[in-house]
Amino acid sequence: MAKGRKIYEGKAKILYEGPEPGTLIQYFKDDATAFNNEKRAVLDGKGVLNNRISEFIMTQLNNISLPTHFLKRLNMREQLIKEVEIIPLEVICRNVAAGSIAKRLGIEEGAALPRSIIEFCYKKDELGDPLVSEEHITAFNWATSQEIDDIIAMTLRINDFLTGLFAGVGIKLVDFKVEYGRLYEGEMVRTVLADEISPDSCRLWDMTTGEKLDKDRFRRDLGGVTDAYAEVARRLGIIKDTAGAEILSFNQE
Ligand code: UDP
Repeated sequence: MAKGRKIYEGKAKILYEGPEPGTLIQYFKDDATAFNNEKRAVLDGKGVLNNRISEFIMTQLNNISLPTHFLKRLNMREQLIKEVEIIPLEVICRNVAAGSIAKRLGIEEGAALPRSIIEFCYKKDELGDPLVSEEHITAFNWATSQEIDDIIAMTLRINDFLTGLFAGVGIKLVDFKVEYGRLYEGEMVRTVLADEISPDSCRLWDMTTGEKLDKDRFRRDLGGVTDAYAEVARRLGIIKDTAGAEILSFNQE
């Protein structure tokens, strides 16, 4: 499928104009960044795995009538998506304390939270995506109260669904980050899940060994980053094995 003009290039993905009005092509790069771009690397095959894992999850979510921007995967690195206006929030949902909440509130990493907690960060790289409250979001018009209600309801549904999906393959969903967009359909505007869901945006721990199967392997220099992502894909039944041959062949495209 012919790609149009490049519209936006982010840290891990590029967006191009799509073949039809109202569509975009989302391209998954191998680039990895952490700590607000201070740490960078190219991880061979990461984009291919995230494309496949995000396709799998978005398809399952569409199947349970959770609206997403995902239309279809085009090839190993690209997917066709609906064009949306991104709501400038990173929506984090946590089940177990890890990362910034553990540090910020002095909770031991790995401690179960009393209930699932949703946090909002304002999407602004220059500011390091600061944590904000619903007061900030409505006062500065980043989203309406109705949109916040929809976002919370959808995020909790995604959390329940993904917690079960991953538990079924021996993985604990510690936390994840999602983004939403406004989909304009004539006079109507709907809030839909956008961006990606992949080991770049989730914390995934093996249920028996506690091994990290996510981007923390990169953040904390644990090595074996793409092997861990391939393990997630293998357990979900997306790829057959972690032997690497398949990933390398993905990379040819
Ligand atoms: N996360 C993300 N992008 C970001 C910040 C966080 O995908 O810019 C994800 C992260 O991978 C984790 C969850 O959101 O699954 C919670 O991250 P946290 O706030 O603990 O931040 P971190 O420890 O990554 O700084």
